[in-house]
Amino acid sequence: MSEKRDYYEVLGVDKKATDQDLKKAFRSLARKYHPDKNPDDEESEARFKEVQEAYAILSNPEQRRQYDMFGHNRPGGDPFSGGFQGVNINFEDIFGDGLDSIFTQFFGGGGRQRRREPKGSDLLVRHRISFEAMFNGSEEEATIESLVTCEPCMGSGAADSSSISRCSTCEGRGRITQTQRIGPFLQETVVDCPNCSGSGRIIKDPCRSCKGDGRLRKERTIRFNVPAGIPEGTRLRMQEQGEPPANGIGKNGHLYIEISIEDHPWFERSDADLLMALPVGFGDLVKGRKFQIPHLDGKDLDIVIRPSTRPGETIDIRGRGIPRARGRGRGDVTVLIKLHVPTKISRSDLSVLESLSDVLNLPDDVVVDSIRSEADDRRSDRG
Ligand SMILES: [Zn+2]
Ligand SMILES: [Zn+2]
Repeated sequence: MSEKRDYYEVLGVDKKATDQDLKKAFRSLARKYHPDKNPDDEESEARFKEVQEAYAILSNPEQRRQYDMFGHNRPGGDPFSGGFQGVNINFEDIFGDGLDSIFTQFFGGGGRQRRREPKGSDLLVRHRISFEAMFNGSEEEATIESLVTCEPCMGSGAADSSSISRCSTCEGRGRITQTQRIGPFLQETVVDCPNCSGSGRIIKDPCRSCKGDGRLRKERTIRFNVPAGIPEGTRLRMQEQGEPPANGIGKNGHLYIEISIEDHPWFERSDADLLMALPVGFGDLVKGRKFQIPHLDGKDLDIVIRPSTRPGETIDIRGRGIPRARGRGRGDVTVLIKLHVPTKISRSDLSVLESLSDVLNLPDDVVVDSIRSEADDRRSDRG
C-alpha cells in the first residue's frame, strides 16, 4: 500500500481543488485511459483504475477529509490490515449507473450494460471507543448479530446437491423477457423469473437448518484496527464482511463500522489539538507556578505559569496533542488559565485578606483607568 500514488497527484490537481476541478481532471483522464479506447493495454487499464479510485475518494467530502487526514498510510502501522479497506472502494457501488452515464456521454451511448450481480446486504454497526483508544489507536472487537452463511448446506439452501435443478421457466438464467402490448406497440421488459425468484435454480429438498434460504441469523465477533487520531463519526469499511446473498449466489455485502468516541474527563478535541482549562489560585498567578498532570501519552504534562499571568491567558504546549495523519507529528495542547475563587472562607482568613487589601483590591480612584487599560490590552492582544 505504501507505493500507492497520492490521489491528488493521480488526478494532477492540487489539494485545494474544487469539485469542478476534480470532475474536469477525472473526465479528461478517464477518457484518455478508458479500456474501450486502449484495448488489451494493461498499463492504461491500471491507470484507469487508479484515476477512478482517486476520483471516487476525493469527490466524496467525507472520504476526502479522511484521506487528507490519514492518507494511504495511516499512523500506527497498517491499521486496515486483515481485510480492512478503509478507502479502497468498490467502484460500482460508488458510481453505480452514474459512471455508466458519464461514459455514455463520452462514447456516444452503447455503454456496457452490466447485469447487476446479486449481493448480500451491507451492514452498519456503531462502535464506541475510549478517548485513550482514539489517541493511541487500538485493536477493537465487537459482537454483532447478522445473517451468515448456513453451514450445513454451505449457503446453497439445499439439503444435498442432487436436489438442486435448473429452473425450466428461465432455463437457469434467473430472468425472463415479458412482452407487453401498449396501444399499437409491443414492449419487451426483462424481469426476475417468478418461478425461481431470480436464482435460476429450483430446490426440491430444502436444507432443514435454513429452510432453503442458505443463511442463518447468528452472533459473531469482528475484530478491526482503529488508527490513532480517528475523527468522530468515521465509517470504517470491511470489504465483503456484510451479509451473504440468498442461496449463496453473488457476493457478500460490506460491513461498515461507524466510530464514536467517549468524552475525556477534561480534554476537548479540536482536530489534532487538545484543549483544557486549568483553574489556579490568585497567588499562583502572581508568583508563577509549575504544574505536572498525567497525560494520554504516558508522560506528565508540564504546565508552566509565568509570574503575573492573568486569567484567560492560554499556554500552548507544542506536539503533545493528537497524532496527525501520515505520521506528520502531533497537534498541540492548549491550556486556558482560569482563576480559582474559593467559595468558603473562614473569618480569620477573611481578616488576613482584609489586611492585604492595599495589594489585592482595586482603589476607587484608578477604576476608570483600569477599565481603559484592560480594553487597550485586550485589543492589542487581538492584533
Ligand atoms: Zn427461473
Ligand atoms: Zn442451510
